[in-house]
Amino acid sequence: MERFISPLEASVAGDKSQMAVIKIDYKLCTGCKACYDECPLDVFGWNEEEDKPIILYPSECWYCGACEIDCPTKAVDVSQSIAQW
Ligand code: SF4
Ligand code: SF4
Repeated sequence: MERFISPLEASVAGDKSQMAVIKIDYKLCTGCKACYDECPLDVFGWNEEEDKPIILYPSECWYCGACEIDCPTKAVDVSQSIAQW
C-alpha cells in the first residue's frame, strides 16, 4: 500500500521548518493502533476505511519517541525536518 496523505496533513503543512517528518511504512503496518493510542498529542488520526493511522498534525510532535518504540513492526519513523538544522 502506498503512503496515504490526508487532506488535513496538507492543510497544516504551512511552516515546514517546524515540521516533524513522520513516516509510516504501510507495508509493515498491521493496524494495531498503538501509535494512535500512545501519542500524547494529536499527531495521528485514524483512517477507518483502511484501518490504518494517518498523520494529521505533525507540527504538534515533540519527538517523545513513543510511537516508534511502541510500534511492534517498526513501521513508524520520526525525525526532524532538515530545515531545522
Ligand atoms: S514522537 Fe511522540 S509526539 Fe511525536 S508523533 Fe510520536 S508519539 Fe506523537
Ligand atoms: S503502531 Fe505501527 S503497526 Fe500499529 S498502527 Fe501504528 S504504524 Fe501500524
